Amino acid sequence: MYDVKSKKATEFISHEEILSTLDYAEKNKGNRELIEDLIERARDCKGLSHREAALLLECDQPDLIEKMYKVAKEIKEKFYGNRIVMFAPLYLSNYCINGCVYCPYHAKNKHIARKKLTQEEIRAEVIALQDMGHKRLALETGEDPKNNPIEYVLESIKTIYSIKHKNGAIRRVNVNIAATTVENYRKLKEAGIGTYILFQETYHKENYEALHPTGPKSDYAYHTEAMDRAMEAGIDDVGCGVLFGLNTYRYDLVGLLMHAEHLEAAMGVGPHTISVPRICPADDISTDDFENAIDDETFQKIVAVIRIAVPYTGMIISTRESKACREKVLDLGISQISGGSRTSVGGYVEEEPEEENSAQFDVSDRRSLDQVVNWLLELGYIPSFCTACYREGRTGDRFMSLVKSGQIANCCQPNALMTLKEYLEDYASLDTRAKGEKVIQEELAKIPRDKTREIATKNLKEIEAGKRDFRF
Ligand code: SF4
Ligand code: SF4
Repeated sequence: MYDVKSKKATEFISHEEILSTLDYAEKNKGNRELIEDLIERARDCKGLSHREAALLLECDQPDLIEKMYKVAKEIKEKFYGNRIVMFAPLYLSNYCINGCVYCPYHAKNKHIARKKLTQEEIRAEVIALQDMGHKRLALETGEDPKNNPIEYVLESIKTIYSIKHKNGAIRRVNVNIAATTVENYRKLKEAGIGTYILFQETYHKENYEALHPTGPKSDYAYHTEAMDRAMEAGIDDVGCGVLFGLNTYRYDLVGLLMHAEHLEAAMGVGPHTISVPRICPADDISTDDFENAIDDETFQKIVAVIRIAVPYTGMIISTRESKACREKVLDLGISQISGGSRTSVGGYVEEEPEEENSAQFDVSDRRSLDQVVNWLLELGYIPSFCTACYREGRTGDRFMSLVKSGQIANCCQPNALMTLKEYLEDYASLDTRAKGEKVIQEELAKIPRDKTREIATKNLKEIEAGKRDFRF
């Protein structure tokens, strides 16, 4: 039975509720009045229920889809302005004992090079990332209690935070590791992680079990209930996501939104971020094997519907997506993107020769961070390297109430400009620097509060004089 507050995976992600939601959406997709009413209501930025979102997703009338996109853009503009937060993934180890059929790290793949970084190698990777200009990382590792125990992850986090190369610093480490115990989540919390990220892959239990035939990840309930345990352990910010294409996107989008509703109802705060990866080719993996793989148009619709349904949740896209696709969805709701990413273990220090491939997926967007920053500036966005919130203790419900009241913009805008300024001073090419300086001057004038604008202006001068790490 469906119970949003239940702690049992099969009750807060009820299969019957998803089927009945999809049935409702199918039956009402021709009801223009109802859909128009929903789109109009979405403008209040209060979000939509999974049922309402499913109906929007099912809508196939071009003029209504256009309206939907327009509202998604409005919401994006209201909460995130034209700021885009930058991050990079850091792969620590690709040893994995699971059997996920869509991932080249699966235990049975014998022709992938297995690697695990030593602390010295992590140091070198982090220096390379700092020298690119990154301040925010998403740490990734396969599940393998022998090779990648929690102690290894904790030690690595400590190493990452300790490195200060030139003016560089990693100020926020988000962690994407396998579902674990409350005790281990407590340890991650103590290590000072930002967001705990775990993708559900698919919410469809039967398919989930078929896609994860072996290893600890095959336990659907343990995996699906992981965010509850993480929050119980005191981790305020969690990041959800599904791998679109593993199952039908309709089912998984509804599951994803039900998960967000559950976290809000049972734990007091919804997910901090939602990621939207979709199945893509990699070693040992071809998209031809996945009949549910989605096209660009559907992908854009998914992004817009998520933006409308959960306006306060950050949305992340990776370099799996091409430049053209990223450009389109930035407009519809994405608030965070990676840049200059390497998806192999040790890939920032050394490009891998083909025969030693250890990458988790093929990167479509292969541009350097400077090229991505330059491109964003050209498109009219402000690339932001801000990590202020969690360092100021603005996490969980404290963060959400600031976002919901719209007050967070008073922090985001000046922080974006100050961290961009740091980037321009320390790492940018001449062309990027010129474009960035122009954007900073234009955007500075748009900070509404006089006092904030004054302080930001003063801090920008101090950054020019060599000082670093200002934040609101
Ligand atoms: Fe291992 Fe994660 Fe890949 Fe599954 S998706 S094989 S758990 S690294
Ligand atoms: Fe994110 Fe907070 Fe920085 Fe805004 S101020 S960009 S919400 S970390």
